[in-house]
Amino acid sequence: MFLTISTTGTADRPATDLGFLLHKHPGRAQRFETSHGEAHVFYPEASDALCTAALLLDVDPIALVRRGKGKGRGGSPDFALAQYVNDRPYAASSLLAVALRTVFASALKGRCDARPELAGQALPLRITVPVLPAKAGGERSGPELVRSLFEPLGWQVDAEALPLDTAFPEWGDSRYVRSELTGTLRLADALQQLYVLLPVLDDAKHYWVAPDEVDKLLRAGAGWLADHPEQALITRRYLARRWSLTRDAMERLELARLAEADDCEAEEIDNAVADEPPEEAGQPEGPPASQDEGPGDEAEADGTEDRPVRLAVQRREAILRALADRGAARVLDLGCGQGQLVQELLREPRVTEVVGLDVSARALSVAARRLHLDRMSERQAARVKLVQGALTYTDARLTGYDAAVLSEVIEHVDPPRLPALVHSVFGAARPGTVVVTTPNVEYNVRWESLPAGHVRHADHRFEWDRTQFGDWARQVAARYGYTVDFRPVGPDDPEVGPPTQLALFIRTDDVPEGGDHR
Ligand code: SAH
Repeated sequence: MFLTISTTGTADRPATDLGFLLHKHPGRAQRFETSHGEAHVFYPEASDALCTAALLLDVDPIALVRRGKGKGRGGSPDFALAQYVNDRPYAASSLLAVALRTVFASALKGRCDARPELAGQALPLRITVPVLPAKAGGERSGPELVRSLFEPLGWQVDAEALPLDTAFPEWGDSRYVRSELTGTLRLADALQQLYVLLPVLDDAKHYWVAPDEVDKLLRAGAGWLADHPEQALITRRYLARRWSLTRDAMERLELARLAEADDCEAEEIDNAVADEPPEEAGQPEGPPASQDEGPGDEAEADGTEDRPVRLAVQRREAILRALADRGAARVLDLGCGQGQLVQELLREPRVTEVVGLDVSARALSVAARRLHLDRMSERQAARVKLVQGALTYTDARLTGYDAAVLSEVIEHVDPPRLPALVHSVFGAARPGTVVVTTPNVEYNVRWESLPAGHVRHADHRFEWDRTQFGDWARQVAARYGYTVDFRPVGPDDPEVGPPTQLALFIRTDDVPEGGDHR
């Protein structure tokens, strides 16, 4: 099995620089022992204009059987010879990926001691894999599968299915594909992608997939996997369909993606908090929520300067009122962001416990600073917890609470992921009360500074009108056994309604029916 990596040179960079990047001299053929046979690196061509490195793995089928105890493709009990006679010696598979990592370890890490500046540069690359197994995945297979994995990463893919037997064209295509990838990428990125995607295409790992494979996947996938449209297929197959590992990886990928999207936001938040006058945090007997937020503090939420501050305050007042009506003492603030609501909840003597959860570690650290968590008395500290988590996954830490708040959160979630969030809150955590707020898109025409047709914040995946929110909320309520009521927040415009819509969900077995209820 083998693959080649080529690059072309320019006036100031000879193609043979590839040798520095790979840490392998173009003038020498080298041999490496790997656990499954010998790997060879050599350069079929090495000129200033064009340089090609080849990695060839000479698989030792007997070593493979001994090591693998006949596991995987070779292990069919009814075909003992399959352990020795299989495609392992010639098809690029997880074995080749392991050889790649062994032989090009530094290049994979993007290290180039001789020419440090080279490692960071995108180079014109061509990678050929003459025999690439591409096992059907869902509706895609063969060349189409290869394209769907590499094209989103910026590769131009030339892939062609290999016939089962050239002498008998009527037998049709095999599942092997001759592939050529062309693109301008950093060599390290290209190698990381191959390292992950070769075994994904092959879909038959030759070794037992242990939990540390999740770390390997996330390390190799840094910067490209979180946004890959085939992320689910890649993760599932890379982890050999071990569901718990796949779920763990997907969750951490989502954290990475969301944290990234959140970074600029958190920076703004940092500045805003730094400008704020010191506040008394966590004093239940302290003054109620005041208008003391710095201007622009919540420009995020509402997109304008003056009104939004007041609207954010009104929104929190509306939420606090709803929670007070329900007498909620133990409260979850889901997607708590920078922690203003957590802070105000702690001012209510009725509230005995607040958990602020967010996916963004940076937002949580801003919240911790806002609350002066480090200086809180023990008694106060016992009332509050800030935890990181992704709401699209059920989370055992969230069960058993009186109420949950989702304030301006649902619109940050991709619509296809929203049912997962709904399930984790209404289906799994099941608090007695849920308060959900979200912008009313109809009101956007009243924000003068908001260009027509724009959402209020770049990260909003959608903004709903009153009918859409109403329909969604009623469906959720019916499905999970809650009642729902709607309360306007902010000026209730006769034509377009209020700027913020609030839905108050009450678990059916919690509804006061003139009898036994909390
Ligand atoms: N509740 C706050 C913040 C709203 S901004 C307020 O009303 O002001 C939305 C917040 O939801 C962000 O802090 C974002 O990090 C968080 N968030 C978005 N998607 C999330 C998810 N899937 N899991 C947890 N938090 C999420």
